[in-house]
Amino acid sequence: QTIGDNFDATVARFPDREALVDVAQGRRWTYAQLQEDVDRLARALMAVGVAKGDRVGIWAPNCSEWTLTQYATAKIGAILVNINPAYRAHELHYVLGQAGISTLISAKEFKSSNYAAMIDEVRPDLPGLERVILIGTPDWDELLGHADDVSAEQLAQVQAGLDNNDAINIQYTSGTTGFPKGATLSHRNILNNGFFVGELCDYTEQDRVCIPVPFYHCFGMVMGNLACTTHGACMVIPAPGFDPAITLQTVQDEKCTSLYGVPTMFIAEWNLPDFADYDISTVRTGIMAGSPCPAELMKKLIASGIEEMTICYGMTETSPVSTQNRTDDTFEQKTRTVGRVGPHLEIRIADPATGEVVPRGVPGEFQTKGYSVMLGYWQQPDKTAEAIEDGWMHTGDIGIMHDDGYVEITGRIKDMVIRGGENVYPREIEEFLYTHPDILDAQVIGVPDAKYGEELCAWIRMRPGTEPITAESLREFCSGQLAHYKIPRYVEIVDEFPMTVTGKIRKVEMREVTTKKLG
Ligand code: ATP
Ligand code: MG
Repeated sequence: QTIGDNFDATVARFPDREALVDVAQGRRWTYAQLQEDVDRLARALMAVGVAKGDRVGIWAPNCSEWTLTQYATAKIGAILVNINPAYRAHELHYVLGQAGISTLISAKEFKSSNYAAMIDEVRPDLPGLERVILIGTPDWDELLGHADDVSAEQLAQVQAGLDNNDAINIQYTSGTTGFPKGATLSHRNILNNGFFVGELCDYTEQDRVCIPVPFYHCFGMVMGNLACTTHGACMVIPAPGFDPAITLQTVQDEKCTSLYGVPTMFIAEWNLPDFADYDISTVRTGIMAGSPCPAELMKKLIASGIEEMTICYGMTETSPVSTQNRTDDTFEQKTRTVGRVGPHLEIRIADPATGEVVPRGVPGEFQTKGYSVMLGYWQQPDKTAEAIEDGWMHTGDIGIMHDDGYVEITGRIKDMVIRGGENVYPREIEEFLYTHPDILDAQVIGVPDAKYGEELCAWIRMRPGTEPITAESLREFCSGQLAHYKIPRYVEIVDEFPMTVTGKIRKVEMREVTTKKLG
């Protein structure tokens, strides 16, 4: 089945159920209405010459037009290229050229970003960019005006000619560790992943999923949109960008049953001064993912009544989810692990040096194989060959598999610190720092050190109204609780961590800042 066929099948089952709510625009669609708009956009794109395999870029924060474009391109087999809303002109230039984008659908502007001006700046250099359509301007209506030049039968014919192994989407990785790479994904990759995520959240047509995470990333467009449309659930878009108060207000107003976020989003929401005033009692389940999810935070979410909350682990290259908690996991499994392997996938933990599978309980590289593994990095065969071996995706993350098959992720291989010959997993120290009553958020990095090779530095966000913690008192707090070589030597008190748009902490940047400061 292709994404378009699956979508049509859901519409046939639940034509009158609500499918999509765009809170900022005050608009809502039933599945039948959504199908009408998706098909109109698909026919319009065909009419202006967009064909199977053509790359259609989308550069916009979350909005209903994003969702319409996602399904319209899938119906005609055009390859949707997600473009990071935070990009500046030179990054836009790179992606437009690298992916060979011929049609760009873009917001006109967002916050301080003037997208239209940046597009004008790079366009003369990109002869392959045939058309630009700005959402919210007459461009959009003009495009839709062409829809009648193509009949429903012509669209159906194109849709029927697609194969579920065709590339349908290029998603750039978050760029947490370096330059983003374009993961090329098929219908089979992301449709299955969205479906199984929805299965493990027990979604039905009764569910209403609040999606404040970016569509530009697989968290929004696969675990959000595709998990919903494979189950007849409703996609609720609270706002174009993330705002903790608007998100909770949306949960309350729209009676959402599921809430998504990266850990920093949940921290922002749960620490709003008026948090207790929002009625979030309708929320049954949800997904926290994208970065290490602190056990203390997960406990808080469960204590707030979201007992079926789950954690997912995965990466863009694997569509993205590899492991997920089950809604009925034990408290221990939910707070300490990222769940167990998803349906129809294989996972293993291997020694990164020898490639040998390690025993349960021993840390190693997390690797996965199955339907979820991407077709490859777009036009980067060398990088693809480095990442996938015999079908196994090498994630670059360190994991431990427990006896019950549940997996703990201790961090990225690149973030592991070697201090005086001892391997230190920052995650373990961060988890401990979260138990300090005045600490809101903590991240631990390794910085170069003449004596030990590397030393540990803790970046700390304090709770409002508390005194900044000194390195000395932090060490005292850790003393006797953590082995001496795991106790951070340096402390950096900050208001925010450097982050990607997808809410990932950029430890690379933190290391640069602290290293420079220490001279
Ligand atoms: P880049 O590959 O460009 O450096 P990135 O790896 O952050 O960026 P994504 O594909 O968006 O880009 O993120 C995948 C990574 O996010 C995983 O490899 C893992 O390190 C981290 N991650 C995702 N979910 C979890 C989780 N539940 N717990 C811990 N880490 C997670
Ligand atoms: Mg990565």
